[in-house]
Amino acid sequence: MKILRAEELGMCFGVRDALHVLDQVSDPTAVTIHGELVHNPEVLRDLDRRGFTRSPEGERQVPEKPVVLVTAHGISERERTRLEAAGKQLIDTTCPLVQKAHAAAQQLQRQGCRVVVLGKRDHVEVLGIIEDLTDAIVVTTAANVATWPDAHLGVVCQTTTQVDVAEQLLAAIRTANPHAVVHFADTICSPTKARVDALRALLPRIDSLVVVGGHNSNNTKQLVASAAEQGVPALHIERASELDDQWFDGRAVVGLTAGTSTLARTIDEVHEALLAIAQRQRGLPASTTVRRTGRSQPL
Ligand code: SF4
Repeated sequence: MKILRAEELGMCFGVRDALHVLDQVSDPTAVTIHGELVHNPEVLRDLDRRGFTRSPEGERQVPEKPVVLVTAHGISERERTRLEAAGKQLIDTTCPLVQKAHAAAQQLQRQGCRVVVLGKRDHVEVLGIIEDLTDAIVVTTAANVATWPDAHLGVVCQTTTQVDVAEQLLAAIRTANPHAVVHFADTICSPTKARVDALRALLPRIDSLVVVGGHNSNNTKQLVASAAEQGVPALHIERASELDDQWFDGRAVVGLTAGTSTLARTIDEVHEALLAIAQRQRGLPASTTVRRTGRSQPL
């Protein structure tokens, strides 16, 4: 069995920078993390151990702690004002590419468009975008597309939306609203696109795929769905201990990729575990060490 790593995989700069800011916090017990920082249980357990408090996702209570950390997913200006009015000191780790999505939505609204956000209705990033808009629409699937009375529709994307999903939804909106001018701002972030492109390049070369990332991570689930669409069976795991030798019986070339909140060390642990499975299949002792380059590592 050969293991091929995607050329681009794992943690994006937005999440990495947010975690770096958390590392600089001198007194974690004074800080509430506003919403889920990353969809990565390992990282979240570590933050809990260090003494940070996390308010549940979607929580609308003002946190008790004096310092509130805004996550990479961002918040609305309305929410920011509410927290500041309550006397909270904010540490803002909003990803610049999420800020770009907010700005695009605001700009479209200023131009007279009714804004349509392609994304998950209850995702914290989408909530942050629509809370500052008037009467915005969220479209998650084609079933949410309707004929709206507006002459101008302005479409933006949740940053982790898959390009082909966005294209399908945009086409459905245009078809259902032939009377409207549909403006489109592509706010899908470049790290998400790079991971999807790398997976597309990998899929024709493999017969199965391991995807590492939180079970509730939107972009990780999308990587799994992309493989399934191409008929490549995919195993979604959060950590190496979830691997089962039997799943790999008869597999010749296994791909490896990971979502944008997966730590490099978790990916390397999974890679090493896959190499050990390959060794066992050949009746050899597990002894291979992964070179941490992010490049394909055939056995
Ligand atoms: S997934 Fe994209 S938008 Fe979200 S934090 Fe990472 S780089 Fe930023």
